[in-house]
Amino acid sequence: MDERAEIVVAGAGHNSLIAACYLAKAGYRCLVLDARHVPGGGAATEEILLPGYGIDTCATGHTLIRVNPLLTGDELGLIADYGLRYIDPDPVAHVAFPDGEQLTMWLDRDRTAAEIARFSAADAAAYLRLLDEYDEVKSVFSGSQFTPVGFGPSLDARLAGHPRGRLWQRRRALSAWDVIRHEFGSRHVRAFMLWMAFQTNQAVDVPGSGVLAYSLVFGRQQRSWSILAGGSGRLTEALTGYLHRHGSTVLCGRRVTRLLLDGDRCAGVETADGGQYRAGKAVLSTIHVTQLRDMAPARAWPEEFHYGIDTYDAGIPGFGVYLATSAPPEFAAPDGGTRTAVSAGTAGWPEDIIRLGQDLRAGRFVADVPWLLVATPTLADPTRAPSGKHTVKLLSQQVYQLPAGMPGWDVVKARHARRQLEHLRLSAPGFTDDVILAQLVKSPADYEQLNPHMVHGAFHGGDRGVAQTGPLRPVPGWASHRMPIAGLYQTGATTHPGGSITGAPGRNAAIVLLHDLGHDPAEVMSALPAPEVRGGHLQPGRLTGREHDGGDRGEGHAGDGGRGDRAGLVAGWHQAVEEVRHDQNPQL
Ligand SMILES: Cc1cc2nc3c(=O)[nH]c(=O)nc-3n(C[C@H](O)[C@H](O)[C@H](O)COP(=O)(O)OP(=O)(O)OC[C@H]3O[C@@H](n4cnc5c(N)ncnc54)[C@H](O)[C@@H]3O)c2cc1C
Repeated sequence: MDERAEIVVAGAGHNSLIAACYLAKAGYRCLVLDARHVPGGGAATEEILLPGYGIDTCATGHTLIRVNPLLTGDELGLIADYGLRYIDPDPVAHVAFPDGEQLTMWLDRDRTAAEIARFSAADAAAYLRLLDEYDEVKSVFSGSQFTPVGFGPSLDARLAGHPRGRLWQRRRALSAWDVIRHEFGSRHVRAFMLWMAFQTNQAVDVPGSGVLAYSLVFGRQQRSWSILAGGSGRLTEALTGYLHRHGSTVLCGRRVTRLLLDGDRCAGVETADGGQYRAGKAVLSTIHVTQLRDMAPARAWPEEFHYGIDTYDAGIPGFGVYLATSAPPEFAAPDGGTRTAVSAGTAGWPEDIIRLGQDLRAGRFVADVPWLLVATPTLADPTRAPSGKHTVKLLSQQVYQLPAGMPGWDVVKARHARRQLEHLRLSAPGFTDDVILAQLVKSPADYEQLNPHMVHGAFHGGDRGVAQTGPLRPVPGWASHRMPIAGLYQTGATTHPGGSITGAPGRNAAIVLLHDLGHDPAEVMSALPAPEVRGGHLQPGRLTGREHDGGDRGEGHAGDGGRGDRAGLVAGWHQAVEEVRHDQNPQL
């Protein structure tokens, strides 16, 4: 190992890489270890089918990370220096319904509304109202997402201070279905809205999913289902490139199996091959929190932590079909035309989509196709495949444990993939076996094997219902990225605000670590240009000194921030940091 590593990072998903980059920016040498043969976790592009076909093995849509100050302020120079480039596909989405009807969402909101008006003029007006209403509070929600728990007001407190906050306090507690049926009357529009709200594999009929009916649609209407030119792996390349240039190291094929303790302090990690990696300052983990618990003696964790882990809900598992094709899925619209979209799919009727959530919760195998996402990024980014060819990914939800009496996953997954393709052909009849050049199917068990962080094949690090959000994630009392063992920090999808490619848990964990190491996080993050540090580290406090107003504007929506706005984006932390309670664990 690199003897000079000050921070050992377990797992190289995009969140822990982002956190490591900020620490490297402050001058710390990080050593990042990942179990897989490639870094990136869910942000990886691999040739898993045929040479020349770059497949996003997990995430393709990056809409959510686009409002992270990491990118809006280009705090690490990933855009300016490492060439990250986003594409906003238009149409945004195209969905087919059970009766053959179809609906297209466009980047032009009025064009989307006109499409909705084909089904209901009242629903078209409701759609525009929904966008406007979320616009009013977007900064409240994103401010909470991009602030570590305990480093600023809670979401409830933020909403309480907003003129229309009470409305949103109720919406937060409702289910997405409650919200959608209240706003929309048409069966087709309701199905479309439910298809959208289910995109993060959060069941749409459970309390706490209400805001998803707004936030996901709003984000898509702003910047589509954004994809990275070249594939999701480009984000990982940029982050690992940054680490390399700043004196840090990423080692793959190193599965962490044990935490090394010096007394009651975490001093490093041990890997499956017996390697030991010691950390001069801290250990940062993106290991699934339920596995992390088993990597130290039971007595190292307090009772409430054990209880939080024992009751942790892994979330809804996913099922995927990966294809290399000679043609994209072309939807045959009822008007005789055809339509393609990077983000397309099929939606059952509202009752089908609601039943989907209920079946999954009850552990019933989902034999039909009530919800299907069909991603064809090559429509907007032809560089991902040979000329004229495509990569297509079918994603859906499924149970992890097959019910008794069913054959194993190898048989079941092949059958289920065939059923999904037959279903898709009802609306995209030209997408026959003839156009499929290669195919790979992944069950929830395969996803879990691919990435130990995706327990039960769930994509997002655990359910995001009321029991596991905000200060309750991953465990009440331990939501500020500091774990009960001194010197040990947690980031990734099991921490606030949860999974997806947002970079929020990573950046938030960096704020906490920088703070505990004696830095002013705002100053480190906003520093320009990023210093390339090849030895030693900047002294704690060296980057401090800027005046802060202690106000709340720093937690505002970052969507329109630029480099020049950095001070504004991060202001307010100084005071907030003072509010952090040190009683639980003075870490460093
Ligand atoms: C098929 C699929 C499609 C998806 N599509 C989208 C999408 O379009 N948009 C979106 O926003 N999200 C999508 N997601 C979800 C998204 O990929 C994840 O929520 C996100 O990757 C979580 O990021 P992370 O950094 O927290 O962890 P991960 O990306 O899960 O990375 C964790 C890393 O830690 C490593 N690790 C785990 N345990 C150990 C250990 N013991 N030792 C060493 N290393 C370890 C893993 O190998 C992995 O590299 C998708 C997920 C899947 C599976």
